[in-house]
This record gives sequence, structure tokens and C-alpha cells, in this order.
Amino acid sequence: MSQKVRVRFAPSPTGPLHIGGLRTALFNYLFAKKNGGDFVLRIEDTDQNRFVEGAEEYIIEALNWCGIPFDEGPGKDGDYGPYRQSERKQLYKSYALKLVEKGMAYYAFDTPETLDQHRKDHEAKGKTFIYNWHNRLKLTNSLSLSNEEVKDKIAAGADYVIRFKSPENKELKLNDIIRGEIKIDTNILDDKVLFKSDGMPTYHLANIVDDHLMQITHVIRGEEWLPSLALHTLLYDAFGWDAPEFAHLPLIMKPVGKGKLSKRDGEKGGFPVFPLTWNQSEGYREAGFFPEAVVNFLALLGWNPGTEQEIFSLEELVNTFTLDRVNKSGARFDPEKNNWYNQQWLQIKSDDELSEMFTVELDKKGISAEPAYIKYVVSSIKERAAFVKDFWELSDYFFQAPTSYNEKAVKKQWKEGTPEIMQELATLLESVPDFKSSIIEEKVKAWIAEKELSFGKVMPPLRLVIVGDMKGPHLFDIMGLIGKQESIARIKTAIAQL
Ligand code: GLU
Repeated sequence: MSQKVRVRFAPSPTGPLHIGGLRTALFNYLFAKKNGGDFVLRIEDTDQNRFVEGAEEYIIEALNWCGIPFDEGPGKDGDYGPYRQSERKQLYKSYALKLVEKGMAYYAFDTPETLDQHRKDHEAKGKTFIYNWHNRLKLTNSLSLSNEEVKDKIAAGADYVIRFKSPENKELKLNDIIRGEIKIDTNILDDKVLFKSDGMPTYHLANIVDDHLMQITHVIRGEEWLPSLALHTLLYDAFGWDAPEFAHLPLIMKPVGKGKLSKRDGEKGGFPVFPLTWNQSEGYREAGFFPEAVVNFLALLGWNPGTEQEIFSLEELVNTFTLDRVNKSGARFDPEKNNWYNQQWLQIKSDDELSEMFTVELDKKGISAEPAYIKYVVSSIKERAAFVKDFWELSDYFFQAPTSYNEKAVKKQWKEGTPEIMQELATLLESVPDFKSSIIEEKVKAWIAEKELSFGKVMPPLRLVIVGDMKGPHLFDIMGLIGKQESIARIKTAIAQL
């Protein structure tokens, strides 16, 4: 009987969730749901210096907005809480000490100043200082000092850290679901600090202890953690625990392709890199993206379904997602394509839902109209919109007379004789009893034929006076919607103004 799948998203609350972090959360969610498992949120807040107020709330709100809520986490207790590492801190030291007892970790008393000096000395020689097998006996720790000296130092209250004793001369075979086997020579590893002098565990220790205690079966995280895989694998071995399986997701690359996507790329390119607005940085939500579109484009950053399909609902993603279709190489972030996803999702949304959203925008402008009218407008323009915020520009003439006329169009369409034609047309429209698109069309066409006018002399200037521009859907539809009085009024205003 195989174990129940349990995955975790383990952000540090050091600021807003970056779009890459949200992708990590999404892949965890998809994997959990696909396999009938649990999706846990664990807040890794052991580094008090980097703690940012409001970051945890932000993370939770972002997950909820995307529709990928966690099953267990802060405020949603399962059997493995608490879910904030700061609330578990009394737990970690005993694990560090266990490794000391087993001879797999040691106390180190080197002061930050001496270590800094070593670093500088090495740098001056163009080298990097690594604390490990090759020099640990020359440094100040429980491997180089006698038991007595160590006891005395601790009794005297000397500051110490606990370091992992990385093995010497071993070839490690690491396993990653996405990358396959990775071989590492342990001689290149440093003796990482597991427990700090401030009484807090480091990320490495707390992360492994918690993944073990929370019975995490799969660790799915960003590629930037791949260098930690050797240490983590060694730690599981040292404790005698079964390690979870690991999957390191490819980096998200800049739109230009090279280099990791950063906040600055967003600022330069004018696109969000955060799901929700944070301080001055606009989020995807506030930029008008639908959560469905964000989930959709994130899913395809590094994963592919193996088919041509591009539009996926969350449910479809859950059904289709597998880790073996996640790529090794970086995934290019494409803001243009993201807009396209939103446009596609906008077409999928019902006219009712879009109308509700548009009504909110109209309210802000102090414009009110019948719900059925708004819905009709939405259905006639949505094809050309990528965002609800585009609606107004595409449809303002449905709600108000033009406040100006496109100059180029005026030059081209408003000629000698046009005012007279428009005046006659206004009189004709006056006589149309049932002011419906098809009837107006019929009458106007008959009149054009009877007068032996051309379409080009009538229709373009008519569009100009009704819309203020040459844009918009079928002109008679617009006129039918705005009504007889408004259509005639617009013609008269234009004759007076142009
Ligand atoms: N706290 C780490 C982070 O901020 C978690 C890394 C992991 O998933 O192991 O991303």
C-alpha cells in the first residue's frame, strides 16, 4: 500500500510572493490533487531579520485568489501543526544535538570575525573559503578541541553553531524526478551550519525536520534549491529517515530569454511579476487578469501537456498534470502571451459575468444603463478585448455621444455635400417607426438607391458622426441600440460642429 501523497509549499515570508513562487505552489497543488493528496502550506520564518509584516497574509490571499487553497497550514490545522516554523522552534535543537551525538555534526566556536578574516584572505588569493573536511581540524570546533575544552567553552557561555560534518571522498547519487540521477563529489560540499548561535535552526535543518515530521512524500520546489539537494539527502541519511522524492522546477527566464526573471524586468517591460499588488508594484489581479488566465499561463511555464492544447481550466490541469512532463531547461516568461491567455479566457467567460464586471467600471464613471443594454454592448465588443478594462474604450459611444471626432477620418469622410446628405438622412430616420437594426438598414439602403447615392458617401460619414471614429461593430446595430433620438441628435451635433 503506497503512502498518501503529501506535498508542501514552504515560502519564507520575506516579501510578496513572486510569480515564480506562485508557479511552485501551483505545481504542488496540481500534483497533490492529481494524486488525491494533501497540499500543505508551511511558513519558513526562522530568519527573523528577513521577516516582513503582511507577507504571510499576502501569500495566503494569492493562493486563494488563484483558486489553489492549501489543505493544511496556518489557520487550517491538520495533524501536523503548527505550520509556522517560528512556532516550532523548540523542536529543532534536539535534532541538531542528535546528529552531534552520532558524530555527524559538531559544535563550532569560530567567531564571525575570524571567519570573515579567512574569507578575505582567500579572496585576496583569488580563492573561496570553504569550511569542510580539508580545514575543519585547523578551525575552532569540537573536532579540533578536546572534550574538556568544548565542555568548558559551552559552560562559559561561548557562542557556537552546530555544523554538519560533510563526508569526505564519497560520490553521492542524488535523484530528481525531472533531472534524473545527479552525481556529486562530497569533497566540494561545505559543512553547512544547521543550528545558529541565536538559538534558531537554519533553513536546511528546519526544512528537513519538518518535511520528515509532516510526512511529506514529494518536495517540489524551484531549481535554485538544487544545490541544497546533496546536503538534504545527506541529512536524511544521517537521521536514518526515508527521504521524500525531489523535483526541482526549471527557472523562469526573462522575456528576452537569458537570465532569471526579476522584479526589474517587470518594471522595465511594464508587466507585473507579483500576483497581487504589493506597495508600488501592480499585481496581476489589479492589472485586470482573470485568475484562470494566470493559472493557465503559469502551468505552461515549464510544463507541457504533450499536445497542442493551450487553454486549460484548473480542473483540466489537475487531470492532465504529471511531473514527467516538466522540462529541465528554463521557461521563458512571455508577457505578450500572458495577455493572449487573458483574452482567451475573456471569450470563455459568460456575457453575464463580464457585464457585471463592466457595470462596476461604468459605475465608477457615473454611467448607468439597463443590464440588458450593457450585456448587449459586451457581447458585441468582447471579441476585440483582452481585458474588461478595455471595454470602455471599445464601447464608449454606446453610452455617450462623441466628445470629439477622429481628425484623419474627418478629413477623409467629411466632404462638400456631406452635411446636406446627413441632414436628409436625419429626416429619413425620423420617419422610421420601429427603430431596429434590420429596419433602419433596409430603409437607409432603399433611400441610398433611390437617391442614386453611393454607400461610400453615406456610411463612413454616418459612422463618424455616430461613433466619433471609424471603429465599432455593425453601424445599424449601434444605432438600434442607442435609439432614434440619440442617433438623430448625434447627426445634428456633427453637422453643427464639423
Ligand atoms: N523556504 C524556502 C523558500 O523560501 C523553501 C525551499 C524548499 O521548498 O525547500 O523557498
